[in-house]
Amino acid sequence: MSNRICDLFGIQYPIIQAGMIWCSGWKLAAAVSNAGGLGIIGSGSMYPEVLREHIQKCKKATQKPFAVNVPMLYPDIDKHIAIIIEEKVPIVFTSAGNPKTFTNHLKSHGIKVVHVVSSVKFALKAQEAGVDAVVAEGFEAGGHNGRDETTTLCLIPMVKKALHIPLIAAGGIGTGSAMLAAMVLGADAVQVGSRFVASEESSAHAKFKQTVLTAKEGDTMLTLKELAPVRLIKNKFFHDVQAVYQQCGTVEDLKTVLGRARAKRGMFEGDLEEGELEIGQVSGLIDTILPAAQIVAALRQEFEQAKKDVLALPTL
Ligand code: NDP
Ligand code: NDP
Repeated sequence: MSNRICDLFGIQYPIIQAGMIWCSGWKLAAAVSNAGGLGIIGSGSMYPEVLREHIQKCKKATQKPFAVNVPMLYPDIDKHIAIIIEEKVPIVFTSAGNPKTFTNHLKSHGIKVVHVVSSVKFALKAQEAGVDAVVAEGFEAGGHNGRDETTTLCLIPMVKKALHIPLIAAGGIGTGSAMLAAMVLGADAVQVGSRFVASEESSAHAKFKQTVLTAKEGDTMLTLKELAPVRLIKNKFFHDVQAVYQQCGTVEDLKTVLGRARAKRGMFEGDLEEGELEIGQVSGLIDTILPAAQIVAALRQEFEQAKKDVLALPTL
């Protein structure tokens, strides 16, 4: 089967594991790539030399293509880009910044570039900047997110209508039936984050993984829009942030409550009270920690089953 994203990246299945700070190091990225999808190292939680170490370990652990996600709101981005070029990483996903900044530079080194967006406006900007594909991420997604709260169900067909380059859907996709739905709406592939947080190879702390398993519908919320919108589990830290809103606090008050390294404390060190626990709404459907290869296999099986189920739908 020919598929624009599989052809672009040289992968077997149109399943991409999201770059997630503190959760997607080389072990997860290599496992997903070895299973026929595209694994992504999340560089936002890495100092430059840690990123180099993860890229080198990933290259040893898989012969297949893999990518690095570069969230542009994090420090040391120029050093990250230089290391990615030196280490000959084949594919880069940029996010949370202007796609014009690095696209031409990366492409001049033969690197394929994808940019993550949450609106039609920024999808068009990314296409104009010359990216090879776009990830359109809906409101359901965990972690940093768009301000407009456009859901995946609405975003994908709108972006599809506006773009001619390949489109990857993200946000709320943790099953093969959701993958099929996104592709019916016009996506060429899907990007899956939360489901891979609860994988054996994810570098998330075991306590955070357990929290993902117990999360139910309504347990996450998008907050901190004045700084950088982020979807979190409603833990003590989340309620401390909400208290600032109730007291009509300023942006400075929000920054004071946020402090430093909350994401590391929550997701990597397992502080479930004071840390930031970034996960998507689909966490309500996740109840097992599996090896990443089994997650890829389950997505494929569920996708094929959903295709069969569609045939049983009534004729209108
Ligand atoms: P890895 O190859 O996993 O990690 C190498 C380095 O990268 C370490 O300095 C580690 O930090 C850091 N690191 C790992 N994942 C990330 C990430 N997603 N974002 C940013 N930095 C990351 O090496 P090892 O297998 O030797 O493990 C090193 C350490 O990583 C161990 O001490 C282990 O406790 C921890 N780890 C924890 C896991 C967990 O589930 N909690 C899973 C895998 C590893 P650091 O040294 O600060 O841990
Ligand atoms: P912080 O800026 O609070 O802290 C930096 C964290 O990243 C630390 O845990 C640090 O590890 C680690 N780190 C990895 N690589 C680097 C590097 N190259 N330089 C410095 N630190 C590094 O991190 P956040 O993830 O919480 O936020 C990242 C950015 O997003 C910041 O600019 C922040 O202002 C912005 N932001 C974040 C929000 C959020 O919800 N997280 C909300 C609004 C804005 P170590 O502890 O080992 O030094």
